[in-house]
Amino acid sequence: MFETLSDRLTSVFSSLRGKGRLSEEDINATAREIRLALLEADVALPVVRDFIARIKERARGEEVSKALNPAQQVIKIVNEELVEVLGGETRQIRFAKNPPTVIMLAGLQGAGKTTLAGKLAKWLSADRNTPLLVAADLQRPNAVTQLQVVGERAGTPVFAPEPGNGVGDPVEVARESIEHARRNNHNVVIIDTAGRLGVDTEMMRQAADIRDAVRPDEIVFVVDAMIGQDAVNTAQAFLDGVGYDAVALTKLDGDARGGAALSIRHLTGRPIMFASTGEKLEDFDLFHPDRMASRILD
Ligand code: GDP
Repeated sequence: MFETLSDRLTSVFSSLRGKGRLSEEDINATAREIRLALLEADVALPVVRDFIARIKERARGEEVSKALNPAQQVIKIVNEELVEVLGGETRQIRFAKNPPTVIMLAGLQGAGKTTLAGKLAKWLSADRNTPLLVAADLQRPNAVTQLQVVGERAGTPVFAPEPGNGVGDPVEVARESIEHARRNNHNVVIIDTAGRLGVDTEMMRQAADIRDAVRPDEIVFVVDAMIGQDAVNTAQAFLDGVGYDAVALTKLDGDARGGAALSIRHLTGRPIMFASTGEKLEDFDLFHPDRMASRILD
């Protein structure tokens, strides 16, 4: 991801190199090129507009005119603004004062929720947590089994409705899982909820019902970064329908243009907390805006 954007920005900056002072025309031309590079990377228009306005304003300011190396200073500004648009600080998990900490995952089918649940469980376990995975996706016949497979790979127990008891009520399962976690000393509960292929009122209502029943400490909206501009629309629909505290971006290993990653924070006001970068359980980390910005400008 970001290869094209990265190449484009490198060439924009190389045309600035060696310039002693930057004229208004230099600044405008640079801003124009950065704008095109961002649009080409599928970054949403309002985000591009604000980004470019900030770059121009700062490039015309003292920090550049007084710099020994103005081009270097512009690169520094772009880097800082990229970090900002990606969310600034790394967003840490907010653990509950009284365990268990409840983390609920919501998002479309195929976004990567179940995989992310396993990754998160494994990552938390490596840091002396004792997570419990909860199968509250009872819509798809295979979903519970899939979470059980992921749980086994992560070495994390899975709370699911008893087989033979019918389909079960996801709200009830979620509620019971909290009690189960308390009794069995699980300090984190990760709830995998049902998704559909498209945004759908029934799915939203179910997620909202689970939310109301368990009052999660963190609701995390999981979104496939490969779906481009659609990621932003889906993010808005979930914000209105369920609400969430943070975003998990999945499939960052793909070759999509990366616009979702650069747009979502700015448009939803919610930080990106997790980054999923492959199909293996280890391909996971907290999202670090500074590292991502450095990768783009590498
Ligand atoms: P869910 O329907 O939201 O629970 O999505 P799944 O966890 O079942 O993931 C859907 C597909 O995406 C599966 O084939 C996963 O292996 C794949 N997947 C999930 N996360 C990633 C990722 O970060 N990178 C890649 N390349 N594939 C992923």
